[in-house]
Amino acid sequence: MFKKILIANRGEIACRVIWACRELGIKTVAVHSEADRDALHVRFADEAVCVGPAPSAQSYLNIPQIISAAEITNVDAIHPGYGFLSENPHFAEVCRECNITFIGPSPEVIRMMGDKAEAKRTMKAAGVPVTPGSEGLIEDEETAIKEAEAIGYPVLIKATAGGGGRGMRVAHNRQELVNAYNTARAEAEAAFKNSGVYLEKYIANPRHIEIQVLCDNHGGVVHLGERECSVQRRHQKLIEESPSPAVGYDLRQEMGRVAVEACKRIGYNNAGTIEFLLDEDGSFYFMEMNTRIQVEHPVTEMVTISDLVAAQIRIAAGEELNYTQDQLIFVGHAIECRINAEDPETFTPSPGRITTLNLPSGAGVRVDTAIYDGYFVPPHYDSLIAKVIVHSRTRERAIARMRRALESMVVEGIKTTIPLHLKILNEPDFIAGNISTRFMDRFLK
Ligand code: ADP
Ligand code: ADP
Ligand code: MG
Repeated sequence: MFKKILIANRGEIACRVIWACRELGIKTVAVHSEADRDALHVRFADEAVCVGPAPSAQSYLNIPQIISAAEITNVDAIHPGYGFLSENPHFAEVCRECNITFIGPSPEVIRMMGDKAEAKRTMKAAGVPVTPGSEGLIEDEETAIKEAEAIGYPVLIKATAGGGGRGMRVAHNRQELVNAYNTARAEAEAAFKNSGVYLEKYIANPRHIEIQVLCDNHGGVVHLGERECSVQRRHQKLIEESPSPAVGYDLRQEMGRVAVEACKRIGYNNAGTIEFLLDEDGSFYFMEMNTRIQVEHPVTEMVTISDLVAAQIRIAAGEELNYTQDQLIFVGHAIECRINAEDPETFTPSPGRITTLNLPSGAGVRVDTAIYDGYFVPPHYDSLIAKVIVHSRTRERAIARMRRALESMVVEGIKTTIPLHLKILNEPDFIAGNISTRFMDRFLK
């Protein structure tokens, strides 16, 4: 097992990794920007190294600085968390060259899945159903029109390097398509330095259902069931749950089987998530694969009574999965609400000093966060400040528990999305499990 791990991240996920390391008896090294000197992950790690100024391009994305920090502190491995360098194949390669274990899949697999058009092609070849769309990238307007007509409107133009809900545009007809195609390319070039786009059928009322997988380096592969992440705003997840109210035993078996088979075919290793769209008629289509731990991993941990971050570390250290698919258990229902430092009506970021804080607690409540009383939420990073996760026997009870938890959560000094979550939790369609990725559009109207 590793003796010391560097965590190339900040916020709640950096703390989450530190807690896993503590339980495994592994020492930790935090890296931080100048704006994060007072951050919780810096306080709780055994050692901390400042890697640059506040902007992430100069600190949390600064590969030479992070590798130097790893070498100075003599760590065995680096955990990248999510976001930042977690899906950067070059970073994984540099780690390999420096003899530091990157806690995640190989650079080759990260690269393949990081290009969404290539990932789709690979999955299709592996027998996975994919969203109907173009075979690969669209190089000019004429091809875009031809492909769109073959697929049938509406279509979605997607950046092959896209992520985080960015780089997607819907077109309902030919005029919209030409405009959308050109703006999508320009936006993709500006945001990802890669103008490659492809076309996909725009599914009208889908659910976002994803399957969590764990693959060791010895051929062991299991899936840990699904998470439903249909409650989204601008393609960004707000609430996630497991199990999905739309997925019964047979569909879970089928989606799980497809996910496990795909992982075996591409030689995947470590933790990963295969994202699918579930159509109203019950068909499901591969959308993309995330080659890292996900923000919403705790809902899976609650219902499977597992520790996915510990599993990532053990797998990276060469251990075998010590259970088979049949030994997995699924208990009850878990829901996660992402609490952002944002105005709950306009969604504009609300950084600043937290003057009063009360975090929820009590039976079946888990809070993953890095905020504390008096903490200053810096303006430079993602606005996620806490994840409130509840677990109970049924979905109905989990909803009641989440309401109770959020009603007792107090964050003063900044604005948060807590009031928005409380409204969603009282919405009849949400309560009935009648949700799709269009839910928030209707709700916000
Ligand atoms: P990202 O890399 O930004 O996460 P995804 O491909 O996972 O991009 O898509 C993000 C979200 O966009 C999905 O959860 C879904 O809500 C929506 N979406 C993506 N593709 C389609 C599609 N073909 N039809 C309808 N909605 C889609
Ligand atoms: P750790 O392995 O770090 O002690 P886990 O929660 O991952 O913590 O696993 C505890 C034990 O339970 C492990 O030995 C594993 O074999 C088993 N286990 C983990 N997840 C499940 C699950 N969902 N169902 C059944 N057994 C599990
Ligand atoms: Mg996605």
